[in-house]
Amino acid sequence: MSKFLIVGAGQAGLQLALGLLQDGHDVTVVSNRTPDDIRSGRVMSSQCMFDTALQHERDLGLDFWAEECPDIEGISLAAPAPGGGKKIDWAARLERPAQSVDQRVKMPAWMEELERRGGKLVLHDAAVPDLEEYARDHDLVLIAAGKGEVAQLFARDASRSPYAAPQRALALTYVTGMTPRPEFSAVAFNLIPTVGEYFVFLALTTTGKCEIMVFEGIPGGPMDCWGDVTAPAEHLEKSRWILETFLPWEAERCREIELTDEYGVLVGRFPPTVRKPVGELPSGALVLGLADAVVLNDPVTGQGSNNASKAAASYLASIREHGDAPFDRSFMERTFERYWGEAQYVTGWTNALLGPPPQHILDLLLAANDHQEIADRFVNGFNDPRDYFDWFMEPDKVGRYLAAVAT
Ligand SMILES: Cc1cc2nc3c(=O)[nH]c(=O)nc-3n(C[C@H](O)[C@H](O)[C@H](O)COP(=O)(O)OP(=O)(O)OC[C@H]3O[C@@H](n4cnc5c(N)ncnc54)[C@H](O)[C@@H]3O)c2cc1C
Repeated sequence: MSKFLIVGAGQAGLQLALGLLQDGHDVTVVSNRTPDDIRSGRVMSSQCMFDTALQHERDLGLDFWAEECPDIEGISLAAPAPGGGKKIDWAARLERPAQSVDQRVKMPAWMEELERRGGKLVLHDAAVPDLEEYARDHDLVLIAAGKGEVAQLFARDASRSPYAAPQRALALTYVTGMTPRPEFSAVAFNLIPTVGEYFVFLALTTTGKCEIMVFEGIPGGPMDCWGDVTAPAEHLEKSRWILETFLPWEAERCREIELTDEYGVLVGRFPPTVRKPVGELPSGALVLGLADAVVLNDPVTGQGSNNASKAAASYLASIREHGDAPFDRSFMERTFERYWGEAQYVTGWTNALLGPPPQHILDLLLAANDHQEIADRFVNGFNDPRDYFDWFMEPDKVGRYLAAVAT
């Protein structure tokens, strides 16, 4: 039995903690927010999770909302045509549904579950001097603090971080009363060239079923428009304005929408950043970074919570295989690289979608209007983005793929 301490009670920190507890270890989680702070606080994410990530939760018996949370059965893609109407317009079903449980629902429940299963929850905003103490008293200290300041301990890895500045102005609007899309529920993803992206999907929030609207505005463009918005009602109005201006078919679904609650809104921006996984404290003690603390992607592809779940599962497997050996620098680097072996594809694909779409990607997305198999493959790649590197990411592979589809 080893002693683990994890800073950060989010998707990654809690999922790993609950996995380690299941294996009989001594586990402490340090959180700078109480369960009630989180439950009654502001939304943090849109947290749409696909089947592989959800399976890691099911494996640990943590899928408490599987029945109550509405299923997201597919993904649709639309882009406006210059003269009106849609230039791209298709949808496909996911092989297995996705789900989004508001982190304000999930994290407090998992914190309580941690204590129920014998783990310790310490309420504290951990800083470097605390980490020194934790490192002295534990076999391994992990930092799963997301975008928290303590993650600055890990040096930015410039070779894996192509952007130094935020690439999107982000906003979330949690609403009820939206008209459902026809046929099947889906992440309705909309691309507005030179302006940004908008996607919307069903979720479970603190007040029940809702829809989460996600706005990704290109900095300096017309969707980077949240600076003068202060009150929640203004945020809702601005959300409507964007849809009425750029996406009339989405505005049509929003005639009756209302905010789920006054904290159901968020604005922000951050640069996508990959960091070195090992942090060295002034004493020379080492700590290991996990999930967003070390691999932070823009939400445009909706992968962060998926990555957090996959990172927690990957680290758990590495810890299991490591047995009783010391958790030294070599273990930390190997553990991260094993996870990065998968995460690099998510980061590469996500960063590529933040730039102006190259011609080969436009060709492919347009061809999906007429070839359902392209839509099917694209949509199911969200569950495992490694697949995009076999057919989507490079012009010559796209050319070969399109030629094969056309025959
Ligand atoms: C607008 C937006 C939309 C998103 N949509 C999606 C989506 O649809 N699908 C998806 O998969 N992902 C999405 N994400 C990303 C996803 O929310 C994150 O990637 C995921 O929450 C990361 O989990 P984590 O456990 O690494 O960190 P976090 O969820 O950030 O958790 C970190 C925790 O650590 C705590 N903490 C921080 N510092 C300290 C400290 N010093 N001491 C103690 N505790 C500390 C924080 O309070 C927090 O509770 C979205 C993100 C944003 C911003």
